[in-house]
Amino acid sequence: MTTQTPIQELVIVGGGTAGWMAAAALSRLLQGKIAIRLVESDEISTVGVGESTIPMIRLFNDVLGINEDEFVRETKATFKLGIEFKDWSRPGERYMHGFGRFGQDLWTVDFFQYWLKAYQAGIAPDLEHFSINRMAARANKFMRPSSETPNSPLAEIVYAFHLDAGLYARYLRKYAEAHGVRRTEGKVVEVRQRPNDGFIESVVLERGEVVAGDLFLDCTGFRGLLIEQTLKTGFEDWSHWLPCDRAWAVPCALSGELLPYTTATARPAGWQWRIGLQHRTGNGHVYASRFMSDDEAAGILMANLDGEALADPKLLRFTAGKRNKVWNKNVVAVGLSSGFLEPLESTSIHLIQSTISRLLAFFPDAGFHQADIDEFNRQCDFEVERIRDFLILHYHATARDDTPFWDHVRTMAVPDTLRRKMDLYKAHGRVVRENEELFTPIGWQQVLHGQGVRPVGYNPLVDLMGDKELRGILGDIERVIGKCVDVMPTHKQFIEAVAAAG
Ligand code: FAD
Repeated sequence: MTTQTPIQELVIVGGGTAGWMAAAALSRLLQGKIAIRLVESDEISTVGVGESTIPMIRLFNDVLGINEDEFVRETKATFKLGIEFKDWSRPGERYMHGFGRFGQDLWTVDFFQYWLKAYQAGIAPDLEHFSINRMAARANKFMRPSSETPNSPLAEIVYAFHLDAGLYARYLRKYAEAHGVRRTEGKVVEVRQRPNDGFIESVVLERGEVVAGDLFLDCTGFRGLLIEQTLKTGFEDWSHWLPCDRAWAVPCALSGELLPYTTATARPAGWQWRIGLQHRTGNGHVYASRFMSDDEAAGILMANLDGEALADPKLLRFTAGKRNKVWNKNVVAVGLSSGFLEPLESTSIHLIQSTISRLLAFFPDAGFHQADIDEFNRQCDFEVERIRDFLILHYHATARDDTPFWDHVRTMAVPDTLRRKMDLYKAHGRVVRENEELFTPIGWQQVLHGQGVRPVGYNPLVDLMGDKELRGILGDIERVIGKCVDVMPTHKQFIEAVAAAG
């Protein structure tokens, strides 16, 4: 399918995080060449969660030219160095998936391999001692990477944010409207298609107004008003691998330390998140309704808050999986309308960002070309399938058999792509990153190790370095990281300084 009509009107339907991120980015990067209109309905609420991000969001902010301190103040954000997983491999155990690198470049082989050899020989402490991110997180410290000490671990800090999803959408709305996006309030009650090819022609609002466009972004959340309800694009269900299908979410009052990391604590049929913001803590319990009732799940959440609940818990229902095509005809699904993977590794907001940047890479300015659409969809599929595998790993690589849920996920069959990754790691600790895969080898290695998977060997090239030298180098790295963490401000002090600068 190829059309030659240039795109003049772009219509975004939906004004949650997806709609406003798309509006902000496209208004900035298309620079007024195409008229952008966003339709949203105050009557239909946004999903209202989505508070934990990954470091790529900083690139998004940079492209938009957003001042980061202002962003932190406006969205009540805190800084995030990684995610701590508690009780996942077995009750009582914990590990962190920290952002950023580990150790230093030693030779042609990854640092991880040197550490692995030393760990297997019993002469190295746990992996986290070689990561500035993880050691700083453990000490509740934070600072941005320092350009004044380029060869120090302080220059290698990698971070993301915890943010208030509602305030973030409001912030982006202000930005997008200032860059020419026209917002229309109204509920879409009808979607009109062209009779010849089924392309969307316009959406009709409850009050009768017709909003026409050439390209439509479906940002209507789980409803998928255009991509599914209208175009019947279809959904690939992955709930046999990711059986969690519900979440209770509730904010609570701040209490204790302001942690620079997200916490994910395993529960009998799922897990609970804890995300500290400047003004409150976000909490949620993600669970599989096949294994636990809603009442029991709500009870577990409310019994495990570390501050007073600020609202009644809200129930969210979802199915893990992806839309068969993210781009179908003249509709691109952005956000929850394109599919959903539970927030275990905080990837949804990132997927919004990558869909937008992919759309820009394949932008149909002069009309629609099927080859572009197919390649766009292939890349979206690849990216989300590899994220899916990474999430499944957290459940499957466990020693837990203490509840029917954990026994099920521990023993279930996993995708071949994941099986191959696990087998490769089990031999020599190797992880190979392919094409557009989001997570790096060190991300996989941290989770594989944290979940208790132990390789039998290591890369033999490491043997070119003697044990004495290896031990000395590892000791030096650990000491330098420790000293760096000592001089960092606490996370709370850092946030207070940013807040005060406004
Ligand atoms: P929504 O927020 O649902 O917005 C839909 C919009 O469409 C609304 O503005 C609504 O008014 C509009 N709309 C719908 N129908 C119509 C209509 N007929 N007419 C007009 N307007 C309409 N992501 C992360 O990155 N990190 C996290 O920590 C994280 N945690 C999550 C926890 C849970 C339990 C869930 C379910 C999701 C989480 N996410 C997380 C995902 C994140 O919340 C979403 O990716 C993000 O909020 C984007 O949502 P959205 O904009 O696609 O949809």
